[in-house]
Amino acid sequence: MKKLKLVLVGNGMAGVRTLEELLKLTPDLYDITVFGAEPHPNYNRILLSPVLAGEQTFEEIVLNDLDWYAQHSIRLLLGRTAVKIDRHRRAVIADDGSEVEYDRLLLATGSTPFILPVPGHRLNGVIGYRDIADTRTMLDTAKTHRHAVIIGGGLLGLEAANGLKQRGMDVTVVHLGDWLLERQLDRTAGKLLQSALESRGIRFRLSAVTDELLNNGDGRVCAVRFKDGEVVSADLVVMAAGIRPNAALAESAGLPCNRGILVNDTMQTYDPRIYAVGECANHRGTTYGLVAPLFEQAKVCANHLAQFGIGLYKGSVTSTKLKVTGIDLFSAGDFMGAEGTETIILSDPLGGVYKKLVIKDNILVGACLYGDTADGGWYFRQVRERSDISQIRDYMMFGQSCFGDGAHRDPHSPASPPQVMHPNTAADCA
Ligand SMILES: Cc1cc2nc3c(=O)[nH]c(=O)nc-3n(C[C@H](O)[C@H](O)[C@H](O)COP(=O)(O)OP(=O)(O)OC[C@H]3O[C@@H](n4cnc5c(N)ncnc54)[C@H](O)[C@@H]3O)c2cc1C
Repeated sequence: MKKLKLVLVGNGMAGVRTLEELLKLTPDLYDITVFGAEPHPNYNRILLSPVLAGEQTFEEIVLNDLDWYAQHSIRLLLGRTAVKIDRHRRAVIADDGSEVEYDRLLLATGSTPFILPVPGHRLNGVIGYRDIADTRTMLDTAKTHRHAVIIGGGLLGLEAANGLKQRGMDVTVVHLGDWLLERQLDRTAGKLLQSALESRGIRFRLSAVTDELLNNGDGRVCAVRFKDGEVVSADLVVMAAGIRPNAALAESAGLPCNRGILVNDTMQTYDPRIYAVGECANHRGTTYGLVAPLFEQAKVCANHLAQFGIGLYKGSVTSTKLKVTGIDLFSAGDFMGAEGTETIILSDPLGGVYKKLVIKDNILVGACLYGDTADGGWYFRQVRERSDISQIRDYMMFGQSCFGDGAHRDPHSPASPPQVMHPNTAADCA
């Protein structure tokens, strides 16, 4: 039988994961063509940070090498950017003029770093942090220049800062908020994190507004000036101030988009032949910037591409980790605690441990852990499954080990009830 034609635009983590899931379900349904703007086979983007920090190599982070594509008879068009979708003729057109027809089209174009449009943002040495090319630029710059400024104290910015520091640069992180990772940590945990990073030699400018990037006439950035007039030297400026979904290709083809390509619970766009997964997709008003939800989307999408017609994506609860060796933090759900929530806090600032659990109506709705994240996965499961924790509430702070091999034994007789607390530890219920 003649195979159907599937075209994937975007050779990244979500798109290729969808292909993997699809090939498991139905290896022979499609002739597959992949357009990839980057000149590399699919790699683990998450691990760019360990590469930057010198803990891994580029070769080690490849997920699917060229043989994998060949083995599955996938036509891989690397270094080619899709520039147009002709929905009438059902064809994708690339920047080199090449054209591939489809029966089904999968868009997985990811995101682009948001570059603050301040004066000087186009100077040499001003980059985002998204791909192998950016990482190579940082590695090369660290060999020849001294001062780096990272704009944005979120996960990406801090990982860039740590990596560049490890590579010998003098690093300053500029952040608009009052504390670091304010979307992932509360103020107390954010301040603990800041102290830990300061002790490694990274400097911070919090609540600072970038006014202009300066140069000394050679076209390269040389400093950052803030609104208050202060100037910090910068041979490299890494913008890590957010991402924007790559939806322009879909939008120009007439697919409804709103901060991402709009998809339904089967990951289908407005055009039933076209699906979208990953950071470019907006599902029920949310675009995700972490891989776990994208992999859930990939599974559902593959199921429908395989014509099984079951499986719905209903959205994801996400959790956070920072990939800076020696710093453990974790958060999930609503860890700030809104009205109507109760908060249990264990705080040991001298020991560098802080834990906060947020409960609403006997359900753990959020957790924020710093310094000891061993139970992060367990708390995350409780948050995601919305389990009734009324029976285990009093011991929850002390972790899963209190309950032996699970949280389901008699909750009134924990395996080893916590009796002695560290002298600096205060566990209180607010
Ligand atoms: C440094 C770094 C660290 C990260 N760490 C974590 C982490 O610890 N945990 C976590 O969960 N997430 C992390 N992330 C986020 C995670 O990598 C992304 O959520 C994930 O890669 C998104 O997958 P995607 O397929 O949607 O996009 P991508 O992986 O970006 O893939 C999209 C691909 O499409 C290509 N493309 C775009 N437009 C076109 C076009 N028109 N034609 C052809 N190709 C096109 C792009 O070049 C890109 O290769 C990190 C991201 C970065 C940059």
